[in-house]
Amino acid sequence: EGAQLNANTTASKAMYASASQHLAGGVSSSYQLRDPWPIYIDRGHQQTIIDVDGNEYIDFHNGYGSMVQGHANPAIGEAVAARFPLGTHFGMATEDSSIVASELAERWGLAKWRFTNSGSESTMDAIRIARAYTGRDTIMKIFGSYHGHHDAVMVSIGVEYDKIGPREHPASLAYGGGIPQAIVDLTIPVHFNDAETMEKRIVELEAEGRKPACVIMEAVMMNLGVVLPEPGYLEAVREITRKHGIVLIFDEVKTGLTIAAGGATERFGVKPDLVTLAKALGGGLPAGAVGGTEEVMRVVEDHTVYQVGTYSGNPLSMAAARASLEKVLVPSAYEHLNHLNERLLAGCQNVIDKYGLPGYSVGIGAKGCVTFSPTKIIDYPSFKENQDVELSELAWLWNMNRGIYMTPGREEEWTLSVTHQDADVDRYIEVFDEMAAAITK
Ligand code: PMP
Repeated sequence: EGAQLNANTTASKAMYASASQHLAGGVSSSYQLRDPWPIYIDRGHQQTIIDVDGNEYIDFHNGYGSMVQGHANPAIGEAVAARFPLGTHFGMATEDSSIVASELAERWGLAKWRFTNSGSESTMDAIRIARAYTGRDTIMKIFGSYHGHHDAVMVSIGVEYDKIGPREHPASLAYGGGIPQAIVDLTIPVHFNDAETMEKRIVELEAEGRKPACVIMEAVMMNLGVVLPEPGYLEAVREITRKHGIVLIFDEVKTGLTIAAGGATERFGVKPDLVTLAKALGGGLPAGAVGGTEEVMRVVEDHTVYQVGTYSGNPLSMAAARASLEKVLVPSAYEHLNHLNERLLAGCQNVIDKYGLPGYSVGIGAKGCVTFSPTKIIDYPSFKENQDVELSELAWLWNMNRGIYMTPGREEEWTLSVTHQDADVDRYIEVFDEMAAAITK
């Protein structure tokens, strides 16, 4: 189809031109960009969004995986509407923050929590807590994983295949400009699904006098499509970090509240020392959290670490989070999400098998994707080496032109919401089948 966005997006095009006059690049986050111009959204209801041209889409982007509750969820709307006339910001705690903290403590089995406004703030604070707790500067992350936009973690993501470096010593590379080399050098990447090399690297760093304060990782990588942990991998990482006295941080900004009520921690039964949340926590309002064990979080309680923020624990966000946890993201929600995702994953896999496409479907909880690759992706190098970029791009365009809304980046997965129904995932499968038929005929 000439591989272009050919839905009618003339109003978005015009809005891009006028927005670009004073809004840098026409958007508020570079991740909202997309060639030839970004699509501007007018409104959303449940699983549907409508852009400024009036195009209607089934939303599989869901605000970068935040809107598991569906758009304009009435339970959240009522909580926010009830809070507004009582005041929305005091820079002081409200009761809802205490109730949300105890619910998260119960779900994650971690005793102590603090709130932030985003995933980036959560990972920034978690890393600072780990550094203060251990008295060390170096940190370890997974090569290719995204943990937000602060300096310490804007390292070794989006790297070209030939720049990755040797398996035992992958390169620490800044992701974009403005990140001091001195900070980059403190962040040591290792590859996902390879606990053995992780431990070797830790031992080397120990010998050099720069043992890491923490390992920060997603239990399921969610920015290369979806990359599941191999059996035993998370357990091995837990064992290694415990043995070497390194704080294990599960960044559950994406996995938390989408793959189970208690995130990856519950789903895989491996407990980290610190957890970071954001995205789905606020039900569409900005909210993030850091949770941890009594022992590690003591550095916050004894004022060694200033975990602060004018808007942290904002009353509107906390009212939304409380309503979401109490009324929406309850056990039955995960049954529904699992059911839908199984149906969607199986349907996509059928299409792949029927037409012999190079790829596979993979997912967990509300998250999944079709990965176009002849072999299974297990880490960043295998992704860069094998992902069929053209086919991935084509699938994105094909979906967008047929009312299936996807994130602007083709590496991103789908996120289902509690408001999606069988008919929505069946439509996805139908559109995918049409694409497979068109490209293989
Ligand atoms: N951690 C992970 C795993 C993420 O996916 C993201 C955002 N995509 C972040 C942190 C950063 O969150 P935010 O954009 O809210 O700062």
